[in-house]
Amino acid sequence: YYNENTILYFDGAFTKATEAKIDLYGQSLHYGYAVFEGIRAYKTESGEVKIFKAKEHFDRFKRSCELIHIPYKYNNDELIAACYKVLELNNMQEAYIRPLVFCPPNMTLKAATETHLLICAWEWGAYLGEKLLRVMLSSYQRPNPKAFKIESKAAGLYVNSILASQEAKEKGYEEALLLDIDGFVAEGPGANLFYEKDGKIYTPSKGNILPGITRATVIEICGELGIPLIEKQITVEELRQAEAVFYCGTAAEVIGWDSLDGQGFSKPWAASLGKVIQQAYKAKVLEKEFKREAIPA
Ligand code: PMP
Repeated sequence: YYNENTILYFDGAFTKATEAKIDLYGQSLHYGYAVFEGIRAYKTESGEVKIFKAKEHFDRFKRSCELIHIPYKYNNDELIAACYKVLELNNMQEAYIRPLVFCPPNMTLKAATETHLLICAWEWGAYLGEKLLRVMLSSYQRPNPKAFKIESKAAGLYVNSILASQEAKEKGYEEALLLDIDGFVAEGPGANLFYEKDGKIYTPSKGNILPGITRATVIEICGELGIPLIEKQITVEELRQAEAVFYCGTAAEVIGWDSLDGQGFSKPWAASLGKVIQQAYKAKVLEKEFKREAIPA
């Protein structure tokens, strides 16, 4: 992720990653009380480096902090400018950008009053790879929305994601699928879910999921391409009957599923609406034109 030349942005200054220091008594380190974002920059068709949906990501960053009472004293335009500067200083064009707000020393369980801010970046290929995913239904649920602000991209929440990912890997799968506390399909450890059935695309409604920015982009793409999109509560039985399924997220982008618990889907990925959406997504982040004619009949 970094080497001796890497520059990051830490509390208002551009600093060498190897020289930045944090306190071991921080509340975030001990209690997972921190908020992060995951953003991607692309070298667009014109050759210009652009951060995809930077404003949306920083708006969510602010909201994530506010939801868990971490004061947000930052100006998002300045943070976006700092992201571009980090890319430039590290000579990066296509990169994953990681903003993190964390809290200074405090061993109590009181809400934070002061914060630190880090922005770093590294070159990262497709997070879940390019191959279709063999997914397992996790024995872990997504956290109870009555026990946590699950719409906050809070660091501590990701222990749940690590548990589900690890379980899937131990059982020989590439990725996990988690249900919500009511037993409906929720999302992956780091991605939102969509499936295709009878010419329509379905996705779990908001409430028990992280409202992904890629999810919003996929919904936008469905609108642009005239693909009917339905947000609803989805059962595992419905998902097993899907023609094709995909995950999406900033790090993973759009990635199709091979199977759920070893059972495949009726449509080949190459013939699915998901494949079209995957191409349209790639075109959008690269600011390339995308032709609607590419949709299979
Ligand atoms: N769900 C979870 C649990 C995630 O961690 C992520 C990644 N941030 C997503 C969905 C996808 O969100 P986004 O498209 O904003 O990256």
